[in-house]
Amino acid sequence: MKIHCIPLETPLNLEFRISRESMVNYKGLIIIAEHDGITGTGEGVPSSYYGHTLKDVLEECTCIDHKKIHSLEDLKIIKTELTPLKTSIDLLYHDLKGKEDKKPLFKLLNLSHEKKESSITIPLTESSHIPEILDESGISIIKLKLGEGVKKDLERLKAIREHTDCPVRVDANEGWTRNEATQMLKLLERHEVELVEQPLQKDDISGLRKLRSLTDIPIFIDEPIVFPEDVEKYADACDGVVVKVMKHGGVTPTLKCIKRAKELEKKVMIGCFLETSLGITAASHLLSLVDFVDLDGNLFLENDPFTGARITGGSIEPPLKPGIGVDFSPSFTFF
Ligand SMILES: [Mg+2]
Repeated sequence: MKIHCIPLETPLNLEFRISRESMVNYKGLIIIAEHDGITGTGEGVPSSYYGHTLKDVLEECTCIDHKKIHSLEDLKIIKTELTPLKTSIDLLYHDLKGKEDKKPLFKLLNLSHEKKESSITIPLTESSHIPEILDESGISIIKLKLGEGVKKDLERLKAIREHTDCPVRVDANEGWTRNEATQMLKLLERHEVELVEQPLQKDDISGLRKLRSLTDIPIFIDEPIVFPEDVEKYADACDGVVVKVMKHGGVTPTLKCIKRAKELEKKVMIGCFLETSLGITAASHLLSLVDFVDLDGNLFLENDPFTGARITGGSIEPPLKPGIGVDFSPSFTFF
């Protein structure tokens, strides 16, 4: 089986700013392969936060021994420590396997088809821009990026609440000190925030425990939750965890993290990176397993090479087509 590894860089339709970084481009790996007349696709997105670059991923792609891959199961012999490549191969496997078995991915995984409401992100922006964003976006659940100090963050919260009473989930992306987080929790309560993600630095487990004792707002942990054992490590410091297909290395390890979270009676949010509709659609097949949904990464790509699951009217659902269920966008050519 010949696996085509294609680097893809495409602009975002806005500057996506969070507390520690700002992004204006999507950069990812798309893989395409044909097996028994069926074409399958996969995607992996390198995250600088986790130390991955597209250059490293592309170099690793050159080590794939295509001659040794004869069957779908052989895709599992490709060993790599680079999560983006691991993710793209896992998605390729599931896409081809679903198409071969003529089953949509959720059915292949013995899951049910569910449609769920998803939040849409408002990146860090001036509070004066927030009313305009809310008017234009049709957002029904807000995921508000914060983590830029109490004064600016409070202005953003006020701007939201002056405009809408819809559910608001806050993500500080490790941006607050302990002192700021303690102040912010009170303000989040006052502004009826539904939950808060990653209020402190990822390693500050005792700080997270303390914060949790101070509030009824559920605290979710995202950045340090990569492996199932991480869920256990943070179990007494959080109410829930954020899983992402791109973060864990594909559907298979994401299912393991969800299973561990449920065993530990933690709530689960499925989130995403800035990724194409391929990654988002793969994640949408897991909707029946999760409590909260944040699958909006494809909405920020100026040119999405795929069409698939997409938040419409505030909700998202997996396609019923075999495999992951995406099509190539008519306007996009890879070759
Ligand atoms: Mg997050």
